[in-house]
Amino acid sequence: MIDYSLARRATLASLFRGQATSTDVCDAHPYLLRAAKFHGEATDEQCPVCRREQLTHVTYTYGDALGQYSGRIKATRELDQMETEIHEFTVYVVEVCQNCAWNHLIESYVLGHGRPPERAARQARGVARSRRAEEGQPVEQPRAKSRAARQ
Ligand SMILES: [Zn+2]
Repeated sequence: MIDYSLARRATLASLFRGQATSTDVCDAHPYLLRAAKFHGEATDEQCPVCRREQLTHVTYTYGDALGQYSGRIKATRELDQMETEIHEFTVYVVEVCQNCAWNHLIESYVLGHGRPPERAARQARGVARSRRAEEGQPVEQPRAKSRAARQ
């Protein structure tokens, strides 16, 4: 997991020192503001810039394994299910103030079951084999044959 709180603090410090203006740092793209409004998750944390509104978290998911769905916004509760289904993907959490348009990446982390696709397929074949054994099909034929020869 990568924590961006140091970068966030540095950005805020430069704003409060007057080295950056609020138009420099409160530059949330209209798409991000829309995302925050419709898909964001409310937090208890107040905006560090305008202090007039609580921050909203927007969670993006990226990865080759997601195919055409890479870059989609997800609710935090959806991530557990995704992790059981998808090999590997990266989660980026951005905080947004819908009042002043402050925004900053706060963390990113990698999720996924981590099984390479090839091994998952092999495991599936192994399951099929043991299922066949349960069904009583002859899986130990050579030994059965040698016992028959002894009789
Ligand atoms: Zn704000």
